[in-house]
This record gives sequence, structure tokens and C-alpha cells, in this order.
Amino acid sequence: MTTIRLHNTLTRRKEVLEPLVPGRVGMYLCGPTVYDRAHLGNARNVILFDVLFRLLRHVYGPDAVTYVRNFTDVDDKINARAAATGRPIRAITDETTRWYHDDMDALGALRPTHEPRATDHIGGMIALIARLIARGHAYEVAGHVLFRVRSFPEYGKLSGRSVDDMIAGARVEVAPFKEDPMDFVLWKPSDPSLPGWDSPWGRGRPGWHIECSAMSLALLGAEFDIHGGGLDLQFPHHENEIAQSRCAHPEGGFARLWLHNEMLLVKGRKMSKSLGNFFTVRDLLDRGVPGEVIRYVFLMTHYRSPMDWTEGKAEQADRVLRRWRSLFEGIAPSQPAPEVMEALSEDLNTAGAVNLLGHLGQVLFQKAGSEWRAPGPERRTSEWEQLASEFVASARLLGLLDPNMGAWTETPDLHPLARKLAELRTTALASKDFAPVDALKSALIAAGVEVRMSKTGVELVPGAGFDPAKLKALL
Ligand SMILES: [Zn+2]
Repeated sequence: MTTIRLHNTLTRRKEVLEPLVPGRVGMYLCGPTVYDRAHLGNARNVILFDVLFRLLRHVYGPDAVTYVRNFTDVDDKINARAAATGRPIRAITDETTRWYHDDMDALGALRPTHEPRATDHIGGMIALIARLIARGHAYEVAGHVLFRVRSFPEYGKLSGRSVDDMIAGARVEVAPFKEDPMDFVLWKPSDPSLPGWDSPWGRGRPGWHIECSAMSLALLGAEFDIHGGGLDLQFPHHENEIAQSRCAHPEGGFARLWLHNEMLLVKGRKMSKSLGNFFTVRDLLDRGVPGEVIRYVFLMTHYRSPMDWTEGKAEQADRVLRRWRSLFEGIAPSQPAPEVMEALSEDLNTAGAVNLLGHLGQVLFQKAGSEWRAPGPERRTSEWEQLASEFVASARLLGLLDPNMGAWTETPDLHPLARKLAELRTTALASKDFAPVDALKSALIAAGVEVRMSKTGVELVPGAGFDPAKLKALL
């Protein structure tokens, strides 16, 4: 069996994955809070865990892997959105959940085995909190239940900080009724305008952290193999999950291996609404960037490095995938290439895997005697066929070249025309003769292409009534 090694944040080293139950793997990924579209950064660990899910299913068998990813559908941000829009909470969370599925499906991410909603697990959360109180790890005060952080000596192990350092450096919520500033909320009271559930501590709602402890316990047990999330969740969210779960169920060790992905940057800067470089997965899809292209760009960077989203990378991905799709059209997958398996098994080195595919693709293009087309019958040797089948199987393991995701390649590549238009504009700015720019623009619009020109560049998006045949004369 393939040996898979993963970097464990808890021990700060790579470890061999040795499933708790031999031959079966359980994994949990903290999912979205459903009140708005997923931004591009949110897709990073979804794609990472999707590759892990595919790899594990390949190694252990499709039914041997249980992948849980939750929907946080009780949260003060959701309540605020409902208050601001006057819409019912459930309408907002249902709609956002649908959007999330649409967007992640478009990126080729397989649906997890279980996608629990927090509000379906309130009973489990109340039971966990009651257990924590009974064991002396939590206390009720002023309608709240708080976790007693000092009662868990290992608190801080995941993020590598002591509790005292955290108090000095962290922005902890100060509340006069807390025994200790680090103590965090397990349950809080709800006034009649807010969602609430009856509990031994009055009508209220859970704090955020407890939901993942309750849902992982219900679906994976008190101990399971892999837990993941963005690096921004390591503290306090994951630290708190560990404390709650280990103190309520000391017989289980909670998650054995912790994977954390680094953050996403856009052109070298952190994505933020104030910098104007904030966008959602849907924004990109609507701009005509295919989900498969977005996925490829994510795979180009190892998950433990910060990843930079640039248009140049998206263009490169577009070019590469078009060539692969035309060369390998109709080739059935066999087994993934051993070197690709090796790269993925070594801490999910997707960047290495796509590089290897690039080289392998190059070799197959050369053997085919064409940059674009599959070889004619005279060059279609059994060796070529075998390597091509391995190529396709390897790409599928990365979630690429899925037969259901290829429709985008039927539209022509608009990047060369966008470049041409940008060049014409540069020339026109010097010569003051804009006729050539206008001519090309009109021809593009006549072909149903939406032309977006800004200071930073030219973007061409196939619009309503797009007619590729009319572009032939321009290309
Ligand atoms: Zn979580």
C-alpha cells in the first residue's frame, strides 16, 4: 500500500498516515459560515481536501474514506445579515448553501460524505457542554457557559504558544464574568429576536467552536485521523475544538493529524475589501474564468506556502488545459503515474504533481508529433496509449480533465485577442489614431464578446449571443 506522509501542525513534522482503524480514514474540514458567497481564499482548503479525498479513495478504496465538512448556519454574522435585509435566517442560509455547492461543484470538488448543518446538531452540543460542566471544565455564569481554559494543561500546543503569551498578545474578549480572560463561550443567551434553543442554561445558542466538536464526535467518533482548515483557524478555533473534545471525551484523542493551509494573496497582497482586490469564486466564474482553470492555479502552489492569484497564472492554466484536453480527448484513464502518486503522497505536493504532468505531457506531445493533436494511427503506439492513459488517470487524481468539466474548451481562447486589443490601444495612445482599436472592438462586440477595458488591462468575456465562427477572421 502507498505510504502517505502529511505535515502535522501538532507535532510540526511530517508523519506517516497510519489510520486509527486499519484500512479506513476519517477526516474533518471546517466548512463555511453561510451568509455570503465564498471568497476565492475559501476555495483553497476545499481543493486541497478534495485532492486528499481523491488520493485516499484511490489508496484505500472509494468507500473507506469518510469526509465531513460542516455548514455553520448559526452565527452572529448570519443574524446581522437577517436583521439588515429583513429576510428569514433559514432563507439566507439555504440560499448561501446552494451557492456554495454551485461554486465548489464548478471547481470540480467532490461532495464530502457528510455535510452536517450546525442547527441539526444542537442537541449534541448541549450534551457536550453538560459533560464539560460535570467534569469541571466549564462553568455557568450570567446565562453563559464558558470553557475553563486553565483546566486543560495542553491548551496552546497546536499553535505553539503558552496561555500567558496568548493573553499578552491576543485580542481576547473581555467580559467581567469570566474567571479568566482566556475562557471562551460555549453557550450564550438569546433574546427573543435571536435564534435560540432551550437548554439547561436557558434559551440560547451555541458559541462557534463547540459545533465542530459535536459534529465530528457524531460522525467520526471521539478520535479520528485528519482535521484541517485554514491557518487562520489554528488559533483560537482549532485550539478550542481540541480543548473541548479532549476534556469531554478523554478516552479519545480527537484529531491525530492537523493540516493547515496558508493564505491566499492577490498579486502579492492580502485580499481585502479595502484594497479593492477582494473577489468571490462566483466573480471569477462570471468573468469567464473556468472552474478547471481556477483549480489548476490553486494546484500550482503547495498548500503550506502562501498562494498568489494572478491573471498570468490563470492564462497559463487556460493554455495548458486546452492543450491537454485536445491531446487526450477520448483517452480512458488507467492507473496514475507512479511519480505523480509519489508527489501527492509526500505531503500533497500538488505543485510537484502538476509539474510532472507538464513534463509527461511534453513527452507525449513530442511522440504525437503535434503541439495540439492526438497522434494519427501511424504514431499511436501501444507505448503512447499506455502513457496517455496514465496521464489521464494522474490528472483525474488531481480533479483535472474530468469529462464533465470540459465544455469551456469549446469556446475559443480569447487571450490572444485581448492581448492584441491591448497592444492596439498602447499604439493608439501614442499616435492618437484610435480607429484600429474601435474596429477590433466593434468586431468583437459583433461576435457577442463583452469587451471590458480598464487602465489595468483588457478583458474579453463571451456574452449573450456569442458566435465563435465570427471570431475566426480576427484570430
Ligand atoms: Zn471547526
